[in-house]
Amino acid sequence: SGGVAAAAPILTQLRGKCATPLPVLRRVADAMAADIRAGLAADGGDGLPMILSYVDTLPTGGEKGLFYALDLGGTNFRVLRVQLGGKDGRVIDTEFQQVSIPQELMFGTTEELFDFIASELARFVEKEGDRFQLRQEMKREIGFTFSFPVKQTSVDSGILIKWTKGFAVSGTAGRDVVACLNEAMERQGLNMHVTALVNDTVATLAGARYWDDDVMVAVILGTGTNACYIEHTDVIPKLQGPKPSSGRMVLQIINTEWGAFSNSLPLTEFDRDMDSASINPGEQIFEKTISGMYLGEIVRRILLKMANTTALFGVSAPEKLCTPFTLSTPNICAMQQDESDDLLTVGTILNDVVGAQSSLSARKTVVEVCDTIVERAGRLAGAGVVGILQKMEQDSKSLIFGKRTVVAMDGGLYGHYPQYRKYLQDAVTELLGPETSKNVVIDHTKDGSGIGAALLAAANSKYA
Ligand code: ADP
Repeated sequence: SGGVAAAAPILTQLRGKCATPLPVLRRVADAMAADIRAGLAADGGDGLPMILSYVDTLPTGGEKGLFYALDLGGTNFRVLRVQLGGKDGRVIDTEFQQVSIPQELMFGTTEELFDFIASELARFVEKEGDRFQLRQEMKREIGFTFSFPVKQTSVDSGILIKWTKGFAVSGTAGRDVVACLNEAMERQGLNMHVTALVNDTVATLAGARYWDDDVMVAVILGTGTNACYIEHTDVIPKLQGPKPSSGRMVLQIINTEWGAFSNSLPLTEFDRDMDSASINPGEQIFEKTISGMYLGEIVRRILLKMANTTALFGVSAPEKLCTPFTLSTPNICAMQQDESDDLLTVGTILNDVVGAQSSLSARKTVVEVCDTIVERAGRLAGAGVVGILQKMEQDSKSLIFGKRTVVAMDGGLYGHYPQYRKYLQDAVTELLGPETSKNVVIDHTKDGSGIGAALLAAANSKYA
Protein backbone atom coordinates (compact mmCIF):
# COMPACT_ATOMS: atom_id res chain seq x y z
CA SER A 1 0.00 0.00 0.00
CA GLY A 2 1.45 3.21 -1.25
CA GLY A 3 2.83 5.40 1.50
CA VAL A 4 1.11 8.20 3.30
CA ALA A 5 -0.80 9.35 0.23
CA ALA A 6 -2.89 6.19 0.51
CA ALA A 7 -4.32 7.50 3.79
CA ALA A 8 -5.92 10.43 1.98
CA PRO A 9 -9.15 8.63 0.97
CA ILE A 10 -9.64 7.44 4.55
CA LEU A 11 -9.21 10.99 5.78
CA THR A 12 -11.62 12.35 3.17
CA GLN A 13 -14.22 9.77 4.09
CA LEU A 14 -13.71 10.51 7.79
CA ARG A 15 -14.19 14.22 7.21
CA GLY A 16 -17.42 13.50 5.36
CA LYS A 17 -18.82 11.27 8.09
CA CYS A 18 -17.86 13.70 10.88
CA ALA A 19 -19.03 16.82 9.11
CA THR A 20 -21.30 19.13 11.10
CA PRO A 21 -22.65 21.71 8.68
CA LEU A 22 -25.50 23.89 9.91
CA PRO A 23 -28.34 21.44 9.01
CA VAL A 24 -26.65 18.71 11.08
CA LEU A 25 -26.17 21.09 14.02
CA ARG A 26 -29.86 22.10 13.75
CA ARG A 27 -30.95 18.48 13.81
CA VAL A 28 -28.85 17.82 16.91
CA ALA A 29 -30.05 20.95 18.74
CA ASP A 30 -33.69 20.11 17.91
CA ALA A 31 -33.23 16.51 19.06
CA MET A 32 -31.61 17.70 22.31
CA ALA A 33 -34.55 20.05 22.98
CA ALA A 34 -37.03 17.23 22.24
CA ASP A 35 -35.23 14.74 24.50
CA ILE A 36 -35.13 17.29 27.31
CA ARG A 37 -38.87 17.80 26.94
CA ALA A 38 -39.53 14.04 26.90
CA GLY A 39 -37.38 13.58 30.01
CA LEU A 40 -39.32 16.26 31.90
CA ALA A 41 -42.60 14.54 31.00
CA ALA A 42 -41.79 11.12 32.44
CA ASP A 43 -38.98 8.95 33.76
CA GLY A 44 -37.86 5.86 31.90
CA GLY A 45 -39.03 6.90 28.42
CA ASP A 46 -37.03 7.98 25.41
CA GLY A 47 -36.01 11.27 26.96
CA LEU A 48 -32.96 12.30 28.95
CA PRO A 49 -32.89 11.41 32.68
CA MET A 50 -33.64 15.08 33.62
CA ILE A 51 -32.98 14.59 37.34
CA LEU A 52 -34.64 17.03 39.75
CA SER A 53 -32.08 18.65 42.07
CA TYR A 54 -34.59 20.15 44.54
CA VAL A 55 -32.36 23.21 44.46
CA ASP A 56 -34.98 25.95 44.26
CA THR A 57 -33.13 28.56 46.30
CA LEU A 58 -30.22 29.96 44.39
CA PRO A 59 -27.41 32.08 45.78
CA THR A 60 -28.24 35.78 45.55
CA GLY A 61 -24.92 37.29 46.55
CA GLY A 62 -26.38 38.38 49.88
CA GLU A 63 -25.22 35.26 51.76
CA LYS A 64 -23.24 35.95 54.92
CA GLY A 65 -21.22 33.85 57.33
CA LEU A 66 -19.02 30.77 57.43
CA PHE A 67 -19.92 27.74 55.34
CA TYR A 68 -18.26 24.48 54.38
CA ALA A 69 -18.25 22.31 51.28
CA LEU A 70 -17.27 18.70 50.82
CA ASP A 71 -16.74 17.27 47.33
CA LEU A 72 -16.68 13.52 46.76
CA GLY A 73 -16.58 12.39 43.16
CA GLY A 74 -13.49 10.29 42.63
CA THR A 75 -10.44 8.98 44.38
CA ASN A 76 -9.88 12.33 46.09
CA PHE A 77 -12.21 14.43 48.12
CA ARG A 78 -11.98 18.11 48.80
CA VAL A 79 -13.01 20.09 51.84
CA LEU A 80 -13.41 23.84 51.72
CA ARG A 81 -14.52 26.67 53.94
CA VAL A 82 -15.58 30.10 52.85
CA GLN A 83 -16.39 33.29 54.72
CA LEU A 84 -19.13 35.13 52.87
CA GLY A 85 -19.55 38.86 53.36
CA GLY A 86 -22.85 39.60 51.62
CA LYS A 87 -23.28 41.87 48.60
CA ASP A 88 -20.35 44.09 49.46
CA GLY A 89 -17.90 41.70 51.05
CA ARG A 90 -18.55 38.74 48.73
CA VAL A 91 -15.96 35.99 49.26
CA ILE A 92 -13.91 37.39 52.14
CA ASP A 93 -11.75 34.34 52.57
CA THR A 94 -11.55 30.74 51.50
CA GLU A 95 -9.38 27.72 52.27
CA PHE A 96 -9.41 24.20 50.94
CA GLN A 97 -7.68 20.89 51.31
CA GLN A 98 -7.58 17.78 49.16
CA VAL A 99 -7.43 14.33 50.70
CA SER A 100 -6.85 11.10 48.81
CA ILE A 101 -9.02 8.16 49.77
CA PRO A 102 -7.06 5.06 50.80
CA GLN A 103 -7.61 2.26 48.29
CA GLU A 104 -8.95 -0.19 50.87
CA LEU A 105 -11.74 2.18 51.88
CA MET A 106 -13.12 2.06 48.34
CA PHE A 107 -13.81 -1.64 48.97
CA GLY A 108 -14.74 -1.39 52.65
CA THR A 109 -17.94 -0.69 54.55
CA THR A 110 -20.10 2.41 54.49
CA GLU A 111 -19.17 3.23 58.08
CA GLU A 112 -15.43 2.96 57.38
CA LEU A 113 -15.63 5.30 54.37
CA PHE A 114 -17.82 7.93 56.01
CA ASP A 115 -15.90 7.76 59.31
CA PHE A 116 -12.73 8.50 57.35
CA ILE A 117 -14.35 11.45 55.57
CA ALA A 118 -15.79 12.79 58.83
CA SER A 119 -12.46 12.48 60.65
CA GLU A 120 -10.58 14.30 57.86
CA LEU A 121 -13.28 16.98 57.92
CA ALA A 122 -12.89 17.25 61.71
CA ARG A 123 -9.13 17.78 61.30
CA PHE A 124 -9.79 20.49 58.73
CA VAL A 125 -12.33 22.22 61.01
CA GLU A 126 -9.82 22.16 63.89
CA LYS A 127 -7.46 24.30 61.81
CA GLU A 128 -10.08 27.01 61.29
CA GLY A 129 -8.34 30.34 62.00
CA ASP A 130 -9.69 33.63 63.38
CA ARG A 131 -10.28 34.91 59.88
CA PHE A 132 -13.32 32.63 59.84
CA GLN A 133 -16.24 33.53 62.09
CA LEU A 134 -19.30 31.40 62.81
CA ARG A 135 -22.42 33.20 64.02
CA GLN A 136 -22.98 32.21 67.64
CA GLU A 137 -26.26 30.38 67.47
CA MET A 138 -25.22 28.39 64.40
CA LYS A 139 -23.93 24.92 63.70
CA ARG A 140 -21.44 24.69 60.88
CA GLU A 141 -23.32 23.86 57.68
CA ILE A 142 -22.04 21.89 54.70
CA GLY A 143 -22.84 21.73 51.00
CA PHE A 144 -22.09 18.17 49.91
CA THR A 145 -21.15 17.66 46.26
CA PHE A 146 -21.62 13.97 45.59
CA SER A 147 -21.03 12.90 42.01
CA PHE A 148 -22.56 9.43 42.00
CA PRO A 149 -26.11 8.51 40.98
CA VAL A 150 -28.57 9.36 43.75
CA LYS A 151 -32.32 9.52 43.95
CA GLN A 152 -33.26 12.77 45.64
CA THR A 153 -36.58 13.76 47.14
CA SER A 154 -35.33 16.88 48.91
CA VAL A 155 -32.35 19.20 48.70
CA ASP A 156 -30.79 17.71 51.85
CA SER A 157 -31.18 13.99 51.27
CA GLY A 158 -30.48 11.45 48.56
CA ILE A 159 -30.52 7.68 48.25
CA LEU A 160 -27.46 6.16 46.58
CA ILE A 161 -28.54 4.12 43.56
CA LYS A 162 -25.12 2.53 42.99
CA TRP A 163 -21.46 3.34 43.37
CA THR A 164 -19.53 3.99 40.12
CA LYS A 165 -15.97 5.02 39.17
CA GLY A 166 -14.26 2.13 40.94
CA PHE A 167 -16.02 2.45 44.30
CA ALA A 168 -17.43 -0.82 45.69
CA VAL A 169 -18.32 0.18 49.26
CA SER A 170 -20.73 -2.29 50.84
CA GLY A 171 -24.07 -1.35 52.35
CA THR A 172 -24.43 2.17 50.92
CA ALA A 173 -26.73 1.49 47.97
CA GLY A 174 -30.31 2.19 49.03
CA ARG A 175 -29.24 4.46 51.90
CA ASP A 176 -29.38 8.23 52.29
CA VAL A 177 -25.79 9.44 51.90
CA VAL A 178 -26.55 12.63 53.85
CA ALA A 179 -27.67 10.55 56.84
CA CYS A 180 -24.53 8.41 56.44
CA LEU A 181 -22.35 11.52 56.65
CA ASN A 182 -24.36 13.17 59.45
CA GLU A 183 -24.15 9.97 61.54
CA ALA A 184 -20.41 9.65 60.93
CA MET A 185 -19.90 13.29 61.99
CA GLU A 186 -21.86 12.57 65.15
CA ARG A 187 -19.64 9.55 65.89
CA GLN A 188 -16.63 11.87 65.48
CA GLY A 189 -18.20 14.38 67.86
CA LEU A 190 -18.31 16.88 65.01
CA ASN A 191 -21.21 19.29 65.40
CA MET A 192 -21.98 20.00 61.75
CA HIS A 193 -24.72 19.12 59.31
CA VAL A 194 -25.41 18.90 55.59
CA THR A 195 -27.98 21.36 54.26
CA ALA A 196 -27.53 20.72 50.53
CA LEU A 197 -26.68 17.59 48.55
CA VAL A 198 -25.84 18.37 44.91
CA ASN A 199 -24.02 17.00 41.92
CA ASP A 200 -21.02 18.84 40.49
CA THR A 201 -22.88 20.45 37.58
CA VAL A 202 -25.48 21.92 39.92
CA ALA A 203 -22.75 23.25 42.21
CA THR A 204 -21.03 24.80 39.19
CA LEU A 205 -24.22 26.59 38.17
CA ALA A 206 -24.74 27.89 41.70
CA GLY A 207 -21.13 29.07 41.94
CA ALA A 208 -21.30 30.93 38.62
CA ARG A 209 -24.71 32.42 39.38
CA TYR A 210 -23.33 33.95 42.57
CA TRP A 211 -21.18 36.27 40.45
CA ASP A 212 -23.61 36.79 37.60
CA ASP A 213 -27.42 36.77 37.80
CA ASP A 214 -27.71 35.98 34.09
CA VAL A 215 -26.24 32.48 34.43
CA MET A 216 -28.99 30.03 33.40
CA VAL A 217 -27.02 26.97 32.23
CA ALA A 218 -23.87 25.16 33.40
CA VAL A 219 -21.90 22.65 31.35
CA ILE A 220 -19.01 20.45 32.44
CA LEU A 221 -16.60 19.19 29.79
CA GLY A 222 -13.92 17.14 31.52
CA THR A 223 -13.29 13.42 31.59
CA GLY A 224 -17.05 13.07 31.10
CA THR A 225 -19.72 15.66 30.40
CA ASN A 226 -22.97 16.90 31.89
CA ALA A 227 -25.18 19.97 31.83
CA CYS A 228 -27.85 21.53 34.04
CA TYR A 229 -30.09 24.57 33.75
CA ILE A 230 -32.71 26.55 35.60
CA GLU A 231 -36.23 25.38 34.78
CA HIS A 232 -39.71 26.60 35.73
CA THR A 233 -41.44 24.03 37.92
CA ASP A 234 -44.74 24.44 36.06
CA VAL A 235 -43.22 22.93 32.91
CA ILE A 236 -41.98 19.79 34.69
CA PRO A 237 -44.91 17.38 34.30
CA LYS A 238 -43.15 14.57 36.18
CA LEU A 239 -42.69 16.73 39.29
CA GLN A 240 -44.98 15.00 41.78
CA GLY A 241 -46.40 16.16 45.07
CA PRO A 242 -47.32 19.60 46.31
CA LYS A 243 -46.65 22.31 43.77
CA PRO A 244 -45.44 25.75 44.85
CA SER A 245 -47.66 26.77 47.75
CA SER A 246 -45.87 29.77 49.11
CA GLY A 247 -44.90 30.86 45.61
CA ARG A 248 -41.37 29.98 46.57
CA MET A 249 -40.65 26.94 44.47
CA VAL A 250 -40.95 28.54 41.05
CA LEU A 251 -37.58 27.59 39.67
CA GLN A 252 -35.49 24.52 40.06
CA ILE A 253 -32.10 23.45 38.75
CA ILE A 254 -32.49 20.36 36.57
CA ASN A 255 -29.61 17.98 35.96
CA THR A 256 -30.01 16.84 32.34
CA GLU A 257 -27.44 13.98 32.38
CA TRP A 258 -26.97 14.94 28.74
CA GLY A 259 -24.08 12.50 28.33
CA ALA A 260 -26.82 9.93 27.73
CA PHE A 261 -28.08 11.78 24.63
CA SER A 262 -27.66 9.82 21.38
CA ASN A 263 -30.12 11.06 18.75
CA SER A 264 -29.06 12.10 15.25
CA LEU A 265 -25.32 12.30 15.95
CA PRO A 266 -22.90 11.96 13.03
CA LEU A 267 -21.04 8.78 14.06
CA THR A 268 -18.46 6.57 12.38
CA GLU A 269 -17.33 2.95 12.50
CA PHE A 270 -14.65 4.11 14.95
CA ASP A 271 -17.23 5.43 17.40
CA ARG A 272 -19.28 2.25 17.13
CA ASP A 273 -16.25 0.01 17.68
CA MET A 274 -15.13 2.06 20.69
CA ASP A 275 -18.63 1.87 22.13
CA SER A 276 -18.83 -1.91 21.66
CA ALA A 277 -15.51 -2.35 23.45
CA SER A 278 -16.53 -0.08 26.36
CA ILE A 279 -17.79 -1.16 29.77
CA ASN A 280 -21.18 0.44 29.00
CA PRO A 281 -22.01 -0.31 25.35
CA GLY A 282 -24.95 1.62 23.96
CA GLU A 283 -24.84 4.11 26.84
CA GLN A 284 -23.49 7.67 27.15
CA ILE A 285 -23.11 8.11 23.38
CA PHE A 286 -22.97 11.93 23.46
CA GLU A 287 -20.35 11.70 26.21
CA LYS A 288 -18.33 9.24 24.11
CA THR A 289 -18.40 11.68 21.18
CA ILE A 290 -17.56 14.97 22.93
CA SER A 291 -15.77 14.39 26.25
CA GLY A 292 -12.13 14.18 27.27
CA MET A 293 -11.99 10.52 28.17
CA TYR A 294 -12.71 9.49 24.57
CA LEU A 295 -11.35 11.97 22.01
CA GLY A 296 -7.80 10.61 22.11
CA GLU A 297 -9.10 7.06 21.87
CA ILE A 298 -11.20 7.82 18.77
CA VAL A 299 -8.12 9.36 17.13
CA ARG A 300 -6.04 6.29 18.07
CA ARG A 301 -8.55 3.96 16.41
CA ILE A 302 -8.49 6.00 13.20
CA LEU A 303 -4.69 6.16 13.13
CA LEU A 304 -4.52 2.41 13.73
CA LYS A 305 -6.73 1.76 10.72
CA MET A 306 -4.60 4.11 8.61
CA ALA A 307 -1.42 2.44 9.84
CA ASN A 308 -2.78 -1.02 9.07
CA THR A 309 -4.18 -0.31 5.63
CA THR A 310 -1.66 2.25 4.36
CA ALA A 311 1.96 2.91 5.21
CA LEU A 312 1.23 5.86 7.49
CA PHE A 313 3.94 4.88 9.99
CA GLY A 314 6.04 2.58 7.79
CA VAL A 315 5.36 -1.04 6.90
CA SER A 316 3.35 -1.98 9.97
CA ALA A 317 1.45 -0.32 12.80
CA PRO A 318 3.54 0.35 15.92
CA GLU A 319 2.59 -2.05 18.70
CA LYS A 320 1.64 0.63 21.23
CA LEU A 321 -0.88 2.06 18.79
CA CYS A 322 -2.84 -1.20 19.16
CA THR A 323 -3.44 -0.67 22.89
CA PRO A 324 -6.72 1.08 23.80
CA PHE A 325 -6.41 4.50 25.43
CA THR A 326 -2.64 4.89 24.83
CA LEU A 327 -3.30 8.20 23.09
CA SER A 328 -4.92 10.67 25.48
CA THR A 329 -6.90 13.83 24.84
CA PRO A 330 -4.09 15.98 26.35
CA ASN A 331 -1.79 14.27 23.78
CA ILE A 332 -3.93 15.23 20.79
CA CYS A 333 -4.39 18.70 22.27
CA ALA A 334 -0.61 19.12 22.52
CA MET A 335 -0.17 17.96 18.91
CA GLN A 336 -2.70 20.51 17.71
CA GLN A 337 -0.77 23.35 19.38
CA ASP A 338 2.29 22.62 17.20
CA GLU A 339 2.45 25.46 14.69
CA SER A 340 5.98 24.78 13.44
CA ASP A 341 6.59 23.96 9.76
CA ASP A 342 8.22 20.62 10.49
CA LEU A 343 5.68 19.60 13.19
CA LEU A 344 8.51 18.49 15.48
CA THR A 345 6.32 18.32 18.58
CA VAL A 346 3.81 16.14 16.76
CA GLY A 347 6.68 13.83 15.78
CA THR A 348 7.98 13.67 19.34
CA ILE A 349 4.58 12.87 20.81
CA LEU A 350 3.91 10.18 18.21
CA ASN A 351 7.29 8.67 18.96
CA ASP A 352 7.04 8.89 22.76
CA VAL A 353 3.40 7.93 23.20
CA VAL A 354 2.70 5.33 20.50
CA GLY A 355 6.21 4.50 19.32
CA ALA A 356 5.56 5.75 15.77
CA GLN A 357 8.23 7.04 13.38
CA SER A 358 6.57 9.65 11.21
CA SER A 359 7.32 11.56 8.04
CA LEU A 360 6.22 15.17 7.78
CA SER A 361 3.27 14.24 5.60
CA ALA A 362 2.23 11.52 8.11
CA ARG A 363 2.32 14.15 10.89
CA LYS A 364 0.15 16.45 8.80
CA THR A 365 -2.36 13.64 8.38
CA VAL A 366 -2.34 12.97 12.12
CA VAL A 367 -3.07 16.63 12.91
CA GLU A 368 -5.93 16.58 10.40
CA VAL A 369 -7.41 13.54 12.10
CA CYS A 370 -7.17 15.21 15.53
CA ASP A 371 -8.78 18.33 14.14
CA THR A 372 -11.63 16.40 12.52
CA ILE A 373 -12.54 14.66 15.79
CA VAL A 374 -12.16 17.78 17.94
CA GLU A 375 -14.12 19.93 15.50
CA ARG A 376 -16.99 17.46 15.55
CA ALA A 377 -16.87 17.27 19.37
CA GLY A 378 -16.77 21.01 19.96
CA ARG A 379 -19.51 21.76 17.43
CA LEU A 380 -21.78 19.02 18.78
CA ALA A 381 -21.28 20.33 22.32
CA GLY A 382 -22.27 23.76 21.00
CA ALA A 383 -25.39 22.29 19.38
CA GLY A 384 -26.25 20.69 22.73
CA VAL A 385 -25.98 24.05 24.49
CA VAL A 386 -28.27 25.63 21.88
CA GLY A 387 -30.72 22.71 22.30
CA ILE A 388 -31.04 23.57 26.01
CA LEU A 389 -31.50 27.29 25.28
CA GLN A 390 -34.08 26.48 22.58
CA LYS A 391 -36.13 24.38 24.99
CA MET A 392 -36.06 27.17 27.58
CA GLU A 393 -37.11 29.74 25.02
CA GLN A 394 -39.98 27.60 23.71
CA ASP A 395 -41.58 27.55 27.16
CA SER A 396 -41.07 31.15 28.14
CA LYS A 397 -40.56 33.49 25.24
CA SER A 398 -37.79 36.06 25.57
CA LEU A 399 -36.57 34.46 28.78
CA ILE A 400 -33.37 33.58 26.97
CA PHE A 401 -33.12 35.26 23.62
CA GLY A 402 -34.44 38.71 24.50
CA LYS A 403 -31.78 39.41 27.10
CA ARG A 404 -28.23 38.58 28.14
CA THR A 405 -27.91 34.90 29.06
CA VAL A 406 -24.77 33.23 30.39
CA VAL A 407 -23.75 29.60 29.96
CA ALA A 408 -21.12 28.74 32.60
CA MET A 409 -18.52 26.30 31.30
CA ASP A 410 -16.13 24.19 33.38
CA GLY A 411 -13.94 21.09 33.18
CA GLY A 412 -10.41 20.28 32.09
CA LEU A 413 -11.27 19.70 28.43
CA TYR A 414 -12.93 23.09 28.03
CA GLY A 415 -10.27 24.77 30.11
CA HIS A 416 -7.26 23.40 28.26
CA TYR A 417 -8.29 22.94 24.63
CA PRO A 418 -8.42 26.26 22.71
CA GLN A 419 -9.54 24.70 19.41
CA TYR A 420 -12.37 22.87 21.16
CA ARG A 421 -13.55 26.12 22.74
CA LYS A 422 -13.48 27.91 19.40
CA TYR A 423 -15.40 25.17 17.57
CA LEU A 424 -18.02 25.18 20.32
CA GLN A 425 -18.44 28.95 20.15
CA ASP A 426 -18.58 28.88 16.32
CA ALA A 427 -21.42 26.36 16.36
CA VAL A 428 -23.40 28.40 18.88
CA THR A 429 -22.94 31.55 16.80
CA GLU A 430 -23.93 29.79 13.56
CA LEU A 431 -27.03 28.29 15.13
CA LEU A 432 -28.26 31.41 16.89
CA GLY A 433 -27.34 33.90 14.20
CA PRO A 434 -25.41 37.13 14.70
CA GLU A 435 -28.08 39.05 16.63
CA THR A 436 -29.15 36.49 19.22
CA SER A 437 -25.65 35.17 19.74
CA LYS A 438 -24.52 38.60 20.90
CA ASN A 439 -26.74 38.08 23.95
CA VAL A 440 -25.58 34.55 24.71
CA VAL A 441 -22.31 34.48 26.61
CA ILE A 442 -20.40 31.19 26.79
CA ASP A 443 -18.08 31.75 29.70
CA HIS A 444 -15.44 29.77 31.59
CA THR A 445 -16.38 29.84 35.32
CA LYS A 446 -13.99 31.23 37.86
CA ASP A 447 -14.67 29.05 40.85
CA GLY A 448 -15.81 25.73 39.56
CA SER A 449 -18.01 23.73 41.80
CA GLY A 450 -16.19 24.19 45.14
CA ILE A 451 -17.58 27.46 46.41
CA GLY A 452 -20.88 26.68 44.63
CA ALA A 453 -21.67 23.89 47.08
CA ALA A 454 -20.85 26.13 50.08
CA LEU A 455 -23.11 28.81 48.59
CA LEU A 456 -25.92 26.28 48.32
CA ALA A 457 -25.35 25.36 51.96
CA ALA A 458 -25.77 29.06 52.74
CA ALA A 459 -28.80 29.52 50.46
CA ASN A 460 -30.45 26.53 52.16
CA SER A 461 -29.25 27.36 55.69
CA LYS A 462 -31.47 26.34 58.59
CA TYR A 463 -30.67 29.68 60.20
CA ALA A 464 -31.61 31.98 57.33
P1 ADP B 1 -12.85 15.40 35.88
O1 ADP B 1 -13.75 15.61 34.71
O2 ADP B 1 -12.10 14.10 35.79
O3 ADP B 1 -13.51 15.62 37.20
P2 ADP B 1 -11.40 17.72 34.94
O4 ADP B 1 -12.58 18.60 34.80
O5 ADP B 1 -10.13 18.33 35.43
O6 ADP B 1 -11.68 16.47 35.85
O7 ADP B 1 -11.12 17.12 33.49
C1 ADP B 1 -10.05 16.27 33.26
C2 ADP B 1 -10.07 15.91 31.78
O8 ADP B 1 -9.80 17.07 31.01
C3 ADP B 1 -9.06 14.89 31.39
O9 ADP B 1 -9.59 13.58 31.47
C4 ADP B 1 -8.73 15.26 29.95
O10 ADP B 1 -9.59 14.56 29.08
C5 ADP B 1 -9.06 16.72 29.86
N1 ADP B 1 -7.80 17.47 29.86
C6 ADP B 1 -6.98 17.69 30.90
N2 ADP B 1 -5.89 18.40 30.51
C7 ADP B 1 -6.04 18.63 29.20
C8 ADP B 1 -5.24 19.29 28.20
N3 ADP B 1 -4.07 19.85 28.48
N4 ADP B 1 -5.73 19.32 26.96
C9 ADP B 1 -6.89 18.76 26.65
N5 ADP B 1 -7.66 18.11 27.52
C10 ADP B 1 -7.26 18.05 28.78
